[in-house]
Parts: sequence; C-alpha cells; structure tokens
Amino acid sequence: MLKTIEEHVRKQVAPAALRAEFRQHEFESMRPFCLLVFCISLLIWLVFDLIVSFLGGQGFTWLSCVFIALLGSLTVVLRFTHRSHHFDVLNLLFITVITLGMRLVIEGLPVALRPVWLILGVSTVLYAMSVLPVRRWSFFCAMAITWVMLSPFYHTRMEPDAVEGAMLISYAVFLSGLVSYSYLQIRKAKLHNFYLSKVLLEQAYIDALTDIPNRRSFMAQADRQLRMASSGQYLAMIDIDNFKRVNDLFGHDVGDEVLKRVALHIKASMAGHAFARLGGEEFAIFLQGLDQQGAEQQVAALCQRVREDKGEHPVTISIGLARVDRSDSLTTALVRADQALYEAKHSGKDRVVLWTTQLAEQG
Ligand code: GH3
Ligand code: MG
Ligand code: MG
Repeated sequence: MLKTIEEHVRKQVAPAALRAEFRQHEFESMRPFCLLVFCISLLIWLVFDLIVSFLGGQGFTWLSCVFIALLGSLTVVLRFTHRSHHFDVLNLLFITVITLGMRLVIEGLPVALRPVWLILGVSTVLYAMSVLPVRRWSFFCAMAITWVMLSPFYHTRMEPDAVEGAMLISYAVFLSGLVSYSYLQIRKAKLHNFYLSKVLLEQAYIDALTDIPNRRSFMAQADRQLRMASSGQYLAMIDIDNFKRVNDLFGHDVGDEVLKRVALHIKASMAGHAFARLGGEEFAIFLQGLDQQGAEQQVAALCQRVREDKGEHPVTISIGLARVDRSDSLTTALVRADQALYEAKHSGKDRVVLWTTQLAEQG
C-alpha cells in the first residue's frame, strides 16, 4: 500500500524542477552549518600550519597570511551567498585554496613525513565535503582537486608500483568510494524526504477536485491575516445556486466540471486574497485592504463573471459578505457571512448581500 502511494506521489512531481527547488531549500537550511564548516576548516588549517611549520622549521610566513586572508574572504562571501549554484562554485574555490595551502605547508616537511600528513589532509577534506549541500558535479570535481593537490605520490618517496604505494592506492580507492557512497546516500534520502513531505503537505492543503486551497488552508491563512491586519477586511461566503439540479439533470461529472469552472473564476478574479473551496459547492474568500465599496464591487464582479460565463451548463452564485474587525473571531465572521448568504439565497439568488446587525436579529 505504502509503495503504491509513494509511486503515485512520485508521478505527480516534475523531478527537474523539484530537484532545483530541493537544492535551494537544502542550501538555505544548511547555510549556517556550511559557514561553521568553513570557519572550522580555516581554524584547522591554521593549527595544521602552525604544527607542520614548526615540525618543518619553516615558521609562520607571509604566505600563511595570504592563505588565511583568502580562506577568510571566501567565508565572508559565503555569508552573503544565497543561491545554491553559487555555493557549488564557492565550495570548489575554498577546496582549491585550502588544499593548495596544505600542500605548500607539507612541502616544508621532511620527505618521509609527507605521505602521512597528505593522507590525513585528504581524509579530513573528503569527509567534510560529503555532508555539504553541493551538486554531484561540484562534489566530484572537489574530490578530484583534493586528490591532485594532496597526491601522496607527488614530491614524496612513494612509488605506485611498490608495496606501500599499492596499499596507499587501495586506501585511496576505498576512502573515495566510501565518501562518495555516503554523499550519494545522504542526498538521495534527503531528496526523497523532501519529495514526500512537499507533496503530502500540498495534498493536505489543496482541494483535490478544483486544485485551489481547501478549508484547512483557508482557516490557517484567514486566521493569520485576521491577527495581522488592522482594518479593511471582509469575508465572503459563496454558494452555487441550484447546484443539485445540475447534478440531477446532467450527472455528477458535469457537476464536478462546473465546480472546477467556478473555482477558476474565483482564482482569476481574487489574486492576492486568500480563497478556498470549503467543501461541497461552497467557497470562501478573505478580502484584505479594501473599503466596503471596494469589497462589494470585487465580489459583485465575480458574481457577474460567473453569470456571464457562456460555457456549457451555466450557473450563478450567491455571495454573503461580512466585514471583519480585528476583535472578531474567524468563527464569528464565518457565521455572519453565512447569515448574509442565507439572505442572498432567500431574496432571489445570483446576488451579493452584505451582513448587517438586522440580519443577525432576523436569524
Ligand atoms: P441552493 O441554490 O439553495 O444552494 O441549492 P443547491 O441545489 O445548490 O443546494 P444543495 O445544498 O441542496 O445542493 C448541494 C449539492 O452539491 C448537493 C451535492 O450532491 C452536491 N455536491 C456536493 N459536493 C459535490 C461534489 O464534489 N461534486 C458534485 N458533482 N456535486 C457535489
Ligand atoms: Mg450549499
Ligand atoms: Mg447551492
């Protein structure tokens, strides 16, 4: 069962667009962690530089200062980087600079000590890289740069065809394979998680038939807007007139098509406002930033738009409109809009009625 749902969910997403969205989302949520990794790498390099320079008797040179400045600048650039594809390049630059810095420091060591430090350097860089949110090309380029810059066969006495060299090659293959595997697995698991949570969240908040927000989404949005804004808020409840007759005369499928058409009209004419299908043939709109005349005009225009839709099986809608004050609860607003809608139905349908205190007294 779970497998079937998963397959169904996967079919609904466009992988290329979703992958791009995933990369951006992943980078944004991991940016502080990436900054931490850059800062710690800089610190480790500094300690590494001091220890190895001491072992090699080089002292702290102006080159060390240049590298610290370069790595520090790249870290500052990361602080202002907001696009994931920029990070792919920035990370490559960082890896190039830090591995070059390591190589230069290790060059100052006695030849016999170099392979150990080189391998230690490679392992640290590769492991850190495997958890960063970079694309595959960037990850494998960074891995190649690391092995080239910190090759234990360059300027050492290691020979690839000697026993020690062969062991080192085996270790390099094992290490690279392991790091690539964990990088690919982590990415895959995270992407999978992102797919599922995104699609499931969408399904929880989008009406499956009309593809507009559902009641749950509307209540959350309207509640937030109600608390945020101070004035000029109106709630409209919409109900399709004589909808049962459409179903009875032409069948449920035609009824569904009519529901979709009305939803499209609402979507097209209410951009910028929260709207939803509450259930059945009822919709709601939370209008913001309008005075009474503006709100009435906007919903009357919707009423007219539906009336004048000359598609098959034309319908009309009735709308109940209620002003919402900051002190009102969403439930109160819904009750008032419903009272106004009731009045619209009983005074002839295909119209807008604004809620007044008299309506409440009648109810
Ligand atoms: P009024 O003008 O007073 O609103 O009359 P009405 O016929 O629209 O009202 P009523 O509440 O009696 O009918 C609503 C109908 O909507 C009943 C139900 O079968 C139909 N309905 C509810 N949900 C759906 C749906 O998802 N698809 C279809 N095709 N019909 C639905
Ligand atoms: Mg109804
Ligand atoms: Mg109806």
